[in-house]
Amino acid sequence: MTIFRGTFLDTPDNPFTGGDLRVDTDAGVLVTDGTIVARGTFADVRRAHPAEPVVDLTGGLVLPGFVDTHVHFPQIRAVGGLGLPLLEWLDKYALPEEARMADASYAAGVAAEFVRGLAAAGTTSALVFGAHYADAVDALFTASSEVGLRVTSGLVVSDRLLRPELHTTPSRAYDESLALARRWHGVGRNRYAVTPRFSLSCTDELLAVCHDVLEEVPGALFTSHLNENEAEIAAVSELFGGCDYVTTYDRHGLVDRRSVLAHNVHPTDVELKLLANAGASVAHCPTSNAALGSGLFPLTRHLQHGVRVALGSDVGAGTGFSLLKEGLQAYFAQQLQAEDGHPLSAAHLLHLVTTAGADALGLSSEVGDLSVGKRFDAQLLRPAEGSPLAVSIAHADDPEEALARTFTLGTPADVRAVWINGDLLHT
Ligand SMILES: [Zn+2]
Repeated sequence: MTIFRGTFLDTPDNPFTGGDLRVDTDAGVLVTDGTIVARGTFADVRRAHPAEPVVDLTGGLVLPGFVDTHVHFPQIRAVGGLGLPLLEWLDKYALPEEARMADASYAAGVAAEFVRGLAAAGTTSALVFGAHYADAVDALFTASSEVGLRVTSGLVVSDRLLRPELHTTPSRAYDESLALARRWHGVGRNRYAVTPRFSLSCTDELLAVCHDVLEEVPGALFTSHLNENEAEIAAVSELFGGCDYVTTYDRHGLVDRRSVLAHNVHPTDVELKLLANAGASVAHCPTSNAALGSGLFPLTRHLQHGVRVALGSDVGAGTGFSLLKEGLQAYFAQQLQAEDGHPLSAAHLLHLVTTAGADALGLSSEVGDLSVGKRFDAQLLRPAEGSPLAVSIAHADDPEEALARTFTLGTPADVRAVWINGDLLHT
């Protein structure tokens, strides 16, 4: 057993429905075998457990580990390809990297960089877009297993309109996906996600096979892209006989509580209703939306319809692994919508990158906040002395203001330590 002592901030009560940020200064959190078994003032927890070792985290902020609901492992070497809209960006920057994943040793190198990048940014759980090659997906799960990250991922499948070397067939996609799921789903902290790239690059036959795989792997998730860019949406509509983007997945039984769909920058009300009724989640990726000029995310409309929303970094169209930066950019995107923007407080931002992500990924019973009964997935943010963030926090009136300043100025360099399941990862 270990007692962690520090200032803990988390959002067990949803700020979008009236909950407040939970702030416990000089608290004690008692962890046994990775699970939080007691929480209170440090003095009380210490008195009840006088013999247990104490890890002193005072002088910083302890937050839950972040949950990234949309990030592409093959694309980290493509970050920073600026100046193009989605479809041109894919051709020039993303798909060449995706094709290099055919080389298993190249993929293993990228997988190691990717997992390190996530953990260093304070991300402890992620829904990861895998690669088009099964060996590369094996490399990702191998790398995540070594670090202990909670990774949900799978084989990315497409059978048209990308580069020919990235195309599969429905029967090959079925066989390779199930073989990967058998090797990795439920092994350690890994889970499988059925992952068609987007309906633009998938025939109905392939999407039907995606449904078959999803049904054969209990506990698997479904993830893909949705309504990201206007040219993309028009092309999808033409390919599918004028039907809306959500329906291209829904008519194959791919839209329900297991579904996490990235972007949805340009939804119709009919689509929002369908997503809400199905209980599907949307991964909002604000730096990607800005970098590719995709548009401003209509958060208020999602909330009004009752669609679940969390945040994703969308590396490599996104600009890095830090969900602090995604939180700040989500805030900017709402501020820029004069009429319809939803003002976001620091509590909203923390919720979006922790509890909302855990909910989207079906991990709410395990992670997302630091309540008794949850796993100790946590991070210590403690900026270097004299840095702008340290100065700013020193002059904050209260911990909520300190959290707002952390979203504004914080980077992975300020993440001093990360724990997953109580184990220290990175200092
Ligand atoms: Zn993406």
